[in-house]
Amino acid sequence: MPTWTNMPPDAPRGYGLPIRRVPPGKPFVCCILSSDLIGTRTHYWHGRTRPCETPDCGACSEGMPWRWHAYMAAFEGMGHEPFLLELTAKATAPLVDYRNAYGTLRGCKLRAMRANFAKNSRLIIETSPADLTKLTLPAEPDLHKVLALLWDLPQSALVPTGQGGRATSTETLSDVTAKVRADDLNELNAEILLRRAACTLQTGNGKE
Ligand SMILES: [Zn+2]
Repeated sequence: MPTWTNMPPDAPRGYGLPIRRVPPGKPFVCCILSSDLIGTRTHYWHGRTRPCETPDCGACSEGMPWRWHAYMAAFEGMGHEPFLLELTAKATAPLVDYRNAYGTLRGCKLRAMRANFAKNSRLIIETSPADLTKLTLPAEPDLHKVLALLWDLPQSALVPTGQGGRATSTETLSDVTAKVRADDLNELNAEILLRRAACTLQTGNGKE
């Protein structure tokens, strides 16, 4: 039975958020709504990005490569709907720095620009605190629920394990190390990223 109402709901899509990546060609500016990011290995498989579900992963069993992606809710300003921002591991490093400096990503103004017109070209990311005297942030979407809905997963599937674990602590240091090795090691920031990841995992989990 449908539930009829004579007023539109505050969240017309339920937990669903449209997913967006930084487009090529012009600077992309948004404000982060999530207090922290959440990341996992993903595969581009059967025409879409899916989380790696190792040790029982269809894409892995077909030998598909994986990439680590970070997700966070963001919006472009008042009057705009929130969306789910997807970033690669390298692009995420400045946000990890911001989170470690300010204790949260919520209210971080992100300015992203691609190095050239290719849609997967390197991202140049700048962060700064948004002027919250001029901007009212919408409520923080529940990233676990948003991603569970996006990927048709049980809602418990993305909840990090461990007391006080940050969302990022679902990744182990060896996962991040493997990711960095898989990337182009000629890029200087690979080593920097690894050090930052080690620091994040230590502070995030408290046990590693
Ligand atoms: Zn997999």
